[in-house]
Amino acid sequence: MHIRKGDNVKMLAGKDRGKTGKVLHVDTKTLRVTVEGCNMAKRHMRPKKQGEKGEIVLIPRSTNISNVAIVCGNCKKTARIQYRVDGKSKVRVCAKCDAAL
Ligand SMILES: [Zn+2]
Repeated sequence: MHIRKGDNVKMLAGKDRGKTGKVLHVDTKTLRVTVEGCNMAKRHMRPKKQGEKGEIVLIPRSTNISNVAIVCGNCKKTARIQYRVDGKSKVRVCAKCDAAL
C-alpha cells in the first residue's frame, strides 16, 4: 500500500472525480480508502428520542485504492510514489519532483 492515512489524494473516478481530500482511513485487506469529503453517502438517522426529528447525515464511503492518486505536497501534482532506501529506512518520494512524502 503506497497510500497512508493523512495523505492528500485526488479522486480519479466516481461522482467526485477531480476532487481532492485527505485520507481518513486505509483498509489494507480490502484495498479501500476513505477520503474526506468524497464519495459522500446520505445516511438517514431515525429519531432517538421522542419529539426529536430524524435527520440525514452525510458520511464518506470508502473507495478502491485504484480510484485515487496521491497529490504531492511539494509540486501539487498527482504523482506516482517511488521508494528510496535512506540508510536503514525506506522513504517515499514523489516520482515527479523527488520530494520526500
Ligand atoms: Zn512532487
